[in-house]
Amino acid sequence: MLDKRAFYINGQWVSPIQTNDLEVINPSNEAACAVISLGGQADTDTAVSAAKNAFNAWSETSKEERVALLEKLLEIYMARSEEMAEAISTEMGAPIALAKTAQCGAGVAHIKNIIRALKAFEFERPLGKHAPDNMILHEPIGVCGLITPWNWPMNQVALKVIAALAAGCTMILKPSEISPLSSMLFAKMIDEAGFPAGVFNLVNGDGLGVGSQLSGHPDIDMISFTGSTRAGIAISKNAADTVKRVSLELGGKGANLVFADADDKAITRGVRHCFNNSGQSCNAPTRMLVERPIYDKAVQTAAKVAEQTTADIASKEGRHIGPVVSELQYQKIQTLINKGIEEGAKLVAGGLGKPEGLNKGYFVRPTVFADANNQMTIAQEEIFGPVLTIIPFDSEEEAIAIANDTPYGLTNYIQTQDGEKANRVARQLRSGMVQINGQPMGAGSPFGGYKQSGNGREGGIWGLEDFLEVKAVTGWSS
Ligand code: NAD
Repeated sequence: MLDKRAFYINGQWVSPIQTNDLEVINPSNEAACAVISLGGQADTDTAVSAAKNAFNAWSETSKEERVALLEKLLEIYMARSEEMAEAISTEMGAPIALAKTAQCGAGVAHIKNIIRALKAFEFERPLGKHAPDNMILHEPIGVCGLITPWNWPMNQVALKVIAALAAGCTMILKPSEISPLSSMLFAKMIDEAGFPAGVFNLVNGDGLGVGSQLSGHPDIDMISFTGSTRAGIAISKNAADTVKRVSLELGGKGANLVFADADDKAITRGVRHCFNNSGQSCNAPTRMLVERPIYDKAVQTAAKVAEQTTADIASKEGRHIGPVVSELQYQKIQTLINKGIEEGAKLVAGGLGKPEGLNKGYFVRPTVFADANNQMTIAQEEIFGPVLTIIPFDSEEEAIAIANDTPYGLTNYIQTQDGEKANRVARQLRSGMVQINGQPMGAGSPFGGYKQSGNGREGGIWGLEDFLEVKAVTGWSS
C-alpha cells in the first residue's frame, strides 16, 4: 500500500502535525491502495500562512514569467500523463482508456486554454475614450482555498489551480479525500516545474475538517469549490463571516430534449453520454425527454444500448464502464433505483444489484427507466450513477417547461435537425450551457451553472476573471 501521508506546504513534503490516517479504496476491488492523512487546523494554518507569505512576490510576477512556468508545467504533465491516468483510474475507477483520454486529457486542455487566455488578457485597460484618465486594473484576489470533488479529478483541479496561478494568486488545494492521488502527483509536477515555495500548497482532509477550516479562514480571500450543492451551501454559510468570494460549481440534472426530427444517432449518443464515467458527471444528460411520435422506438433503442453497455474493472482496456466510486455511492444509487421502481417508473433495462459476474467492486447495472414523470425522485435528484430517466413530451413548450422544472441549471441538450427551433429552445433553457446535436464545447468555453448548479464560470478567460479583483483608478497618467 502506498504511503501518501505527507502534505505539500511551502515547497516541501511535510508530515501532518497530528496523525489521522485514511485509506484510499480502489473501487474496482474494494481494497485499500494508499493511505493519506486527514489534516487538522494546525496543518491548514501552516499552509495558509505559507500562501499568505508568498502572495506579494507572486502577485507581482509578470505575465511572461507566469506563462513560462505554466508552459513548463504543461510539458511535465504531458510527459507524466500515463502515471496520471493510472492514479485517476485507481483512485476513482475510471476505465483506463477513459482515464488516459478524457480524464487526464482534460488537464492538458485546461492548461493550454488558460495559458492562451492569460497571454491575451489585458490586466490594465482604459475605461474608455469618454474618461481618458480612468484606468481599470485587474489584480489577483489573494490567497485561495480550492476544494475539489472525486469524479473528474484533474479536470477540476486544473481548472482551479491553473487559473489561480495564471491570475497571480497563491493557494491551498484540498482535493477530495476519496481521490487524492492524482492531486498529489500534480503537486509533484508543480514542484518539478519550479513554482516559488508557498505559491501552491496541498493539504488533504475531509469536508468537516480542512474543508471547513479553509472556508472559514480569515486569511483566505476566496474559495473556489466544485462538488455537491449540499457542501456548496455549507461553504457559503461558513464563508459569510469573513465576506470572502465564493465561486461554486455544483450539481446538475441535465435534460436532453429529443425532438421527433432528431438525427438517427441522437438516442444512442444520449444514453452513452449519460453512462459515460459510470454516470458520475455533473453535466450528464440524465433526463431524456422524447417527443411522442418517436417515443416507443426511443425507449427500445435506449434499452438496447444499456444492455450492450458492459461494466468491468478499471484497469482493463476497452470501452466498458467502470465501478462507481465508493460503497456509499453504490448504496445511494441502489436506493434511488428502488425509489424509481416504487414510484411507478417502468424499468426497461438494468435494475437493482450488481452486473453478472462482478461481485467484488462497486459495479452498478446500466439502468433505464421509461414512462417517468418529472415529479419522480429519479427525475429530480442527482443519481450520479449509470441511470437514465426517460419522459415523454407533446410540444416544444412542454419540453422546455419540464427541462427547466429542476433546482439545477448546469447543462441541457437539444436534438433536432431544425436549426431555428434549436436556437429558439436554447435561449429558453435556464442553464449555463446548452449543447445542440452533440456538438462539444469549444476550447476555452465557460463552464458553470444557473440556479443551484452554482455561480462561477470556469475555463478560458472567464476562469481567469474568477480569480481577479477589479480596481478603478482615476487620475491615471498616460
Ligand atoms: P462533495 O460535495 O461531497 O465533496 C466535494 C469536496 O468538498 C470534497 O473535497 C469534500 O471533502 C469537500 N467538502 C464536503 N463537505 C464540505 C464542507 N462542509 N465544507 C468544505 N468542504 C466540503 O461532492 P463529491 O461527492 O465529491 O462530488 C460529486 C458532486 O460534485 C456532485 O454533486 C456533482 O454534480 C458535483 N460536481 C459539479 C461539477 C460542476 O462543475 N458543476 C463538476 C463535477 C462535480
